[in-house]
Amino acid sequence: MEEWIIDKITEKSNKSKEEILDIIRQRKKQFPELTEDAILRMLATENGIIPIKRDYKIKEINQRINHVNLSAKIKRKFPPRTVTVKGREARVMNFVIEDETGEMPVVTWNENYIDRIINSPDGESISIANAYSKENPFNGIIELNLGSGSAISVNSTVTQKKEEIKTVYKKIGDIKDGETADINGFITRLFSDDIYLIRCNICKKKVDVECDVHKDKALSKTLRIRGIFDDGIYSSSITFFDRQADSLLKLSQSQDIKEKLNDISFGLYQVNISAKMNKFNDNYSLTARKISKTEYNLS
Ligand SMILES: [Zn+2]
Repeated sequence: MEEWIIDKITEKSNKSKEEILDIIRQRKKQFPELTEDAILRMLATENGIIPIKRDYKIKEINQRINHVNLSAKIKRKFPPRTVTVKGREARVMNFVIEDETGEMPVVTWNENYIDRIINSPDGESISIANAYSKENPFNGIIELNLGSGSAISVNSTVTQKKEEIKTVYKKIGDIKDGETADINGFITRLFSDDIYLIRCNICKKKVDVECDVHKDKALSKTLRIRGIFDDGIYSSSITFFDRQADSLLKLSQSQDIKEKLNDISFGLYQVNISAKMNKFNDNYSLTARKISKTEYNLS
């Protein structure tokens, strides 16, 4: 489990680390299908902590972590090797990064990253976003992996100018009632109960199982997923209907719908959402109109 999340909960809740581990064990009995890490992230969001760490130090990366952002320096590079994977040739490159807390190996199969690293001198600053760490099965050492969802920025390439239209993201508290706005943040919770909306298409009414009058003659079933969205300052309930619910579920590679919901919950994915605000008294309620995963772009 990620120590820094436990530390943050300790700070916020006045509970000791032992007490927190105890709560995790109790919840594990309650929700045997959740991993301890998922329960820890659940506890974090309950305590108002977004369990995504933006800036890791190398010494903190001592286990499998799915989303790692860090800044370091390139210490040493090894020449890329060409290997055959499933009958196709691919290049893989290893290099070592360091910061004031230590050093660690990095692996990448991405052609663009390989070219950029080769062309950077040792000692160059590098920023890495959305990498993942895991144990190398051959030597047991924790390595950082740059995958297709990762982004890097090397000092010398930062100067490359890029013309692009930047989306302006609004904070939830600034969106007016009835307004549709672009927001960026994390889904801190998705509820897995009651995810289908059943209607009778003859009388257009919402029904529980079937229509009192028309029975199951014209029932339609659409996805309706409810959750909590957090933009770092405000949080709001949010609902994804039908196509939006489909694109939400596509964020996770899991096959099972409940697994998908668990996977996307707890602040693991940073997303951009275009959503319509419905304010009722002081309650925020958003309806998603369009959703996409944040593509990290550092250079
Ligand atoms: Zn009916």
